[in-house]
Amino acid sequence: MTRPSNKSSQTTTLTVNNTQILLECVNKIKSAVVIALLGESDPSDSPEITEAIDSLKILIPFYKPDKLPAFADTLKDKKSLPGTNRKIVLARAQRFLQELLFFIADNGTFTNKTLNEKTVDDKTNNNEVLNEASYDEELLKLKGIGKITASRLGVRGLGNPKAMLLFLPARYEDRRTIVPIKELTPGIRCATRGTIEQIRVYGRPWKRITEIVIGDGDDKISAMWFSNRNAALVKYAKGDVVKVAGLFSEYKNRLQVAHPVMCRDDEESNNFDRIIPVYPDVPKVPGKTIEKAIGSAIENIDEYLFDPIPLDLIKKHGLINLQDAVKMAHRPSDNLKREELEKWTEGVSPAHRRLAYDEFFYIQTSLAIRKQNEINQTSSQINFADDLAKYTSDLMGFSPTSAQTKVIGEISDDLNKPHPMRRLLQGDVGSGKTMVAFAAMVAAVKSGFQAVLMAPTEILAEQHMRTLQPLFKKAGISAALFMGSARSSARKKFIKGVENGTINVAIGTHALLSDSVNFFKLALTVVDEQHRFGVSQRLGLNSKAPEGLFPHLLVMTATPIPRSLALTVHGDLDISILDELPPGRTPVQTYFLPPDKKNRANNLIKDELEKGHQVYIVCPIIEESEKLKVSNAETVFEETEKLFPGITGLLHGRMSPEEREEVMDDFLNKRKSILVATTVIEVGVNIPDATVMIIEGCERFGLAQLHQLRGRVGRSVAKSYCILTGSLSTKESEQRIETIVNTTDGFIIAEKDLQIRGPGELYGKRQAGLPGFRFGNLKRDEKLIIAARNDAKTILKKCPSLNCKEMEPLKEELKRRIAESGGPIGEEAG
Ligand code: ADP
Ligand code: MG
Repeated sequence: MTRPSNKSSQTTTLTVNNTQILLECVNKIKSAVVIALLGESDPSDSPEITEAIDSLKILIPFYKPDKLPAFADTLKDKKSLPGTNRKIVLARAQRFLQELLFFIADNGTFTNKTLNEKTVDDKTNNNEVLNEASYDEELLKLKGIGKITASRLGVRGLGNPKAMLLFLPARYEDRRTIVPIKELTPGIRCATRGTIEQIRVYGRPWKRITEIVIGDGDDKISAMWFSNRNAALVKYAKGDVVKVAGLFSEYKNRLQVAHPVMCRDDEESNNFDRIIPVYPDVPKVPGKTIEKAIGSAIENIDEYLFDPIPLDLIKKHGLINLQDAVKMAHRPSDNLKREELEKWTEGVSPAHRRLAYDEFFYIQTSLAIRKQNEINQTSSQINFADDLAKYTSDLMGFSPTSAQTKVIGEISDDLNKPHPMRRLLQGDVGSGKTMVAFAAMVAAVKSGFQAVLMAPTEILAEQHMRTLQPLFKKAGISAALFMGSARSSARKKFIKGVENGTINVAIGTHALLSDSVNFFKLALTVVDEQHRFGVSQRLGLNSKAPEGLFPHLLVMTATPIPRSLALTVHGDLDISILDELPPGRTPVQTYFLPPDKKNRANNLIKDELEKGHQVYIVCPIIEESEKLKVSNAETVFEETEKLFPGITGLLHGRMSPEEREEVMDDFLNKRKSILVATTVIEVGVNIPDATVMIIEGCERFGLAQLHQLRGRVGRSVAKSYCILTGSLSTKESEQRIETIVNTTDGFIIAEKDLQIRGPGELYGKRQAGLPGFRFGNLKRDEKLIIAARNDAKTILKKCPSLNCKEMEPLKEELKRRIAESGGPIGEEAG
């Protein structure tokens, strides 16, 4: 399906996940633009917004490719067109985003919920579409909710009291104490008090600005209103004592607060002297209305919110009860310390923790049910009588690491069962996953079955064939290669061979999934670098086993998925880890060279070549490009060839399989010692004598990619080097390079990646099925995820498929959630 080898290959459709992320981004930017037009702040001030702007480029590169990058760049840079021009930019941006929303509506795959959300956002300005069917009658019982508000809430997915109760404040404003003006700090939201010293109205008639200067004897602030709707201000006069709350910022040496909340000191107001929950925006429904309605829902909370999760679990983890959690989240206790309240805003509190647990618990339970159903599936039992680790290591000519032995043991145990193995093998680059796959395949064939090894790129499939075929041969096993580019005669021969069983092991790319490929007795499928495949491809091989039987599945990945992510994305898989490298390996020494010092790498190349070692030089693009001023493989090849004549090869994705095979063969046999390549060599390639990896234009690669590329060296006991070169123009690229220079530990790198980019980004593009969390956080809640996972397992052990009487409410709730989200993890429900 996808050709993942090239960074520029993008799908032109929006997946459900993409659509949701995209909608969020667009809406975020849209509100920032609106605020900017009011004169409050600029979208470029907020890192969150600039990130969202960047995400647009990544998520929809195919949307107006001639405009989108320029749009993004001007929006991100407020200095590009200052003054009045900035206003024009913002106004255009507003239109651009509106069109984009329509585009998403036409092209996105929507769940009902997002579709509804979209309708509201698009229609807010003109003809709002309201629909009585979108809410429950129950909602009308809440204080202050009439039919119109109810339908406005309904289209936001808040159509019943329960949904309202679970609609948590986005942040809290601490207005419990009045802060004297001189103690106000810019950037902080709080409340202060003073006397009105001056009221000024200026600006054009169509754009009035009202400024109220307030002082408390020591100091002064300006409260500003940048719109014409200032009627409410009429009631204030010079000399009035007022309370003011909002976000204070510094402007021309004075503190300013834009569009604050204000009231006279003697006035009765519930805007002050307490913690104010601030709810996420619901178009045309004021926060006050939401707060009041939720308040009345809380009064009858037992009626609306029932907790089906067994109490002993809640107690075991020291969690608070669901109703209390919800109450607290809406109305934090007045005794909370200010710093603590800030944590609440970040979603860290006993209340949030409880709700996050629920979220994880339901996901893990549905994954566990899926797994339980798989256990009811039957598979061919693979029983290898000998010591499998020893048998394979004898063939390979090295002793297994203890991690390899352990994992091979785990796999043999699984294979020996009459239901399918579902195992993920995680092992950092160079940890020796191929041997484990080889062992599993040997076991399958020696027990009379067939096995498949599927790789994401033709180069990798070819390599597996090259290294494994001689070993299979020694064991009396016949292996054959099959790829999309196979000639028709070879294709026919292969298809016949797997069908009649003369081919024992099929190695290839996703071409193996094609309908014409049928097996005689397939019992094991191994998927290498599985993160490059979608879930559907992973499951695609299932249908190739004999009628009624499921093949055992081993998926392998070097992409170090943070554990928390693995447990949610691959929660239905058992995990084996190769946490040890073969003996004698030393960490690859990594350096960054700025472009003007790039030539320093040449001495290193010379030294290493003299030792009989080999060198990779990776470039982000194939040929020179007008638009992209980065190293390209063809030019670098020419330059390198001049310096090291006769020993330099060139490899990229536009070459034919024959040309490619020849280049790889030359490199493998050391007729060529330097290989200039694009990212076609990113995953899996194994040339143990290569000790230098030079990455040009390193700012153009993501962390996981850099780690993979670096993983092409350091695959023997010889000391290896990785030189990164390029120009680091963004903070993000600096962070990435700093990380890669400082550590070679794939897990740390993955965690960093998660921190820098966030999980949606990390997996959204390549791997569908990443759950979006409302309360939980993959970065923070790893322990909680593990706890939820264990709980789910325990419950299902006691009560398979939740089919016991006392689990009925839980099952109901689970069903409801699955129906709502379209699947236990947001995607295919298996
Ligand atoms: P990856 O986990 O990245 O797929 P490979 O399976 O390609 O790693 O192994 C990397 C290199 O390490 C290969 O050259 C392989 O032959 C070698 N290797 C694997 N296991 C061992 C071992 N136990 N002892 C020595 N070398 C090993
Ligand atoms: Mg590999």
